[in-house]
Amino acid sequence: MKPRILIIYTGGTIGMIEDADTKVLKPFDFTHLMENVPKVKMLDYEIDNIQFHPPIDSSDMSIGHWQQIASAIADNYLGYDGFVVLHGTDTMAYTASALSFMLDNLHKPVIITGSQLPIGEVRTDGEENLITALQIAAARDSHGEPMVQEVAILFEDYLWRGNRATKRSADNFNAFKSYNYPYLAKIGLGINFDADALLRSPKRPLTLRLEMDAAVMSIDLFPGITPEAIAYHLAAPGIKGAVIRTYGAGNAPTSPAIIGAIRDAVKRGIVIVNVTQCVHGCVNSNRYETGDLLCAAGVVSGHDITFEAAMTKMMFLFGLGFGPVAVKKYLQTSLRGEITI
Ligand code: ASP
Repeated sequence: MKPRILIIYTGGTIGMIEDADTKVLKPFDFTHLMENVPKVKMLDYEIDNIQFHPPIDSSDMSIGHWQQIASAIADNYLGYDGFVVLHGTDTMAYTASALSFMLDNLHKPVIITGSQLPIGEVRTDGEENLITALQIAAARDSHGEPMVQEVAILFEDYLWRGNRATKRSADNFNAFKSYNYPYLAKIGLGINFDADALLRSPKRPLTLRLEMDAAVMSIDLFPGITPEAIAYHLAAPGIKGAVIRTYGAGNAPTSPAIIGAIRDAVKRGIVIVNVTQCVHGCVNSNRYETGDLLCAAGVVSGHDITFEAAMTKMMFLFGLGFGPVAVKKYLQTSLRGEITI
């Protein structure tokens, strides 16, 4: 039996072409993509595709698009061995995180990839990324089960857990990295999976959880930030949750006015989760007084979660209809391998 793979093409640089007049990159039709990768046919897979109309730059990605991608996967789940999502790199880590939450009990590969150079260019990384993503989506373990049973990002030399990855470079072919979790596979002469890093969860039927609540926002701390600015953001109409991006091991200024603004918001029922500005490492709120004060104000630790996963996880939890108590509880729980507890 040939592997059956469904490609979902959303847009991004991988499918872009240069406008002859303006020289600006703009989305092109998917047929262009397949024409430019004749090697795909050598894989001898059965490949179908679904395409966004029109394809989008991933800066325009929205909850509605995530719902479209997740629904396409759920609707075709039984008919395919794996799924490859072609996506712009800019918001790829957000989409990967969102899909990981929306696709509950996923047991097939959802491999997201894109490229830094358009697939039509001579030095493109898109061709290799697409072919490797297809091979990973078709890969089986020694029991004949899908090797990857989660949402993952394939880019250049590595396969990363989607909700652990972050875009780290606007130029480099190795554009993604997971700083707090090992790679799922290293791509070299072969595709070398790290069996211990791959997610395995109890076998249950896939459940699609479409509702995402956008009533979240973020605050980035910097020396000089005013309590008024913090209070203003946390008083935004309808806001239910916020990620506060703190220093180092989860530290914030000790100013009573700043801590007071945060405490007041928590008292009003806003869930605030502490995520470090450092790319590597973990929030450890009790290490310094500066972190301890946040904890005492009712801010919950995000542990080693990425900013992208924290934002989408809150959207997901509020989307499920949970109130602050349940949201706080699940922020402390690994739902899809997104945090280390
Ligand atoms: N702006 C593009 C996008 O995210 C960049 C890329 O694809 O790499 O859609």
